Amino acid sequence: MTLVIPFISSAGGQERQAWKTALPEALDGIGIVKPFSDLSAPERQAATIAIVANPDSKEVAALPNLKWVHSLWAGVERLAKELPEDGPMIVRLVDPQMAETMSEAVLAWSLFLHRDMPCYGAQQRRSEWIEHELKLPEERRIGILGLGNLGQRSALRLRANGFPVSGWSRSEKHIEGLETHAGSDGLDTVLGQSDILVVLVPLTAETAGLVDSRAFSKLPRGAALINFSRGPVLNDGDLLKALDSGHLSHAVLDVFDQEPLPQKHPFWLHEKITVLPHISAPTVTRTAVRIVAQNISRYLQTGELPETVDRGRGY
Ligand code: NDP
Repeated sequence: MTLVIPFISSAGGQERQAWKTALPEALDGIGIVKPFSDLSAPERQAATIAIVANPDSKEVAALPNLKWVHSLWAGVERLAKELPEDGPMIVRLVDPQMAETMSEAVLAWSLFLHRDMPCYGAQQRRSEWIEHELKLPEERRIGILGLGNLGQRSALRLRANGFPVSGWSRSEKHIEGLETHAGSDGLDTVLGQSDILVVLVPLTAETAGLVDSRAFSKLPRGAALINFSRGPVLNDGDLLKALDSGHLSHAVLDVFDQEPLPQKHPFWLHEKITVLPHISAPTVTRTAVRIVAQNISRYLQTGELPETVDRGRGY
């Protein structure tokens, strides 16, 4: 019997269409991919694997015999929170292309901050011609919170561009060329030596609100922030205070508590904030569907699953 693999997504328009074309092509010969709305009642009962992209968890719950879901997203905090503990296991997307894209974004925005672009942009708006002293990359320390798939690649790319990089993770790590730390003392060490702080931890019960006034107070005066993880990891009010007091010089934000960022949000017009519409590392359809197809095919042949999300840890 041909395997039917439900596809559940809250994505609209172009993105939904891209998946609807690419997934059946990539899974040709493995199974038939069907959008949730096209499933018959017996197909809902029979489904053991589903592919999801930020799905409505009610639709996932409507497939009672699911063993696991493969997310097309790397961040799965909502799924991990909403699906019952004894529900399907969650496999998130781990795509080397996404790590490459994220590391490019981290490098680009670190260079933007390193070369004082926010300051020169503000001067231009005031028609001011003022040169500032050039700092070399080796004089600009960058700290990365989160040394996973995305954080490690970003750290190594920054290192290759001459920046001294230190990183923080939950478990101890040894990565050539990087100074690494773990635990709460480790966090303060990394913060204390971050002229630019890059946030790439997943959103969990432990990381919600992690980047707050306490964290800012440990950063050197004049430090800048890049948050590419999730909005709730950052305390918005504390960020505004740290920018307005001059303790922080600038923040580049790609992720927010509410997305799209509400029209009246103070971040939009703040001179020291660069707002990006969650674009630092979008899923690349072509490479993502290949990884999903490989993972499902391997599971069907060997029963082996890729690493699943640890529900206790939240990522
Ligand atoms: P990984 O799960 O591979 O890595 C997460 C890292 O964070 C690990 O190093 C982990 O430590 C560390 N970490 C988690 N919790 C803690 C904690 N409590 N204390 C210290 N360190 C912690 O995730 P990815 O690198 O793939 O992705 C990171 C996040 O980036 C995603 O969860 C998502 O929110 C965001 N993202 C944003 C995108 C965008 O376009 N803006 C695109 C894709 C993802 P350890 O290694 O010890 O487990």
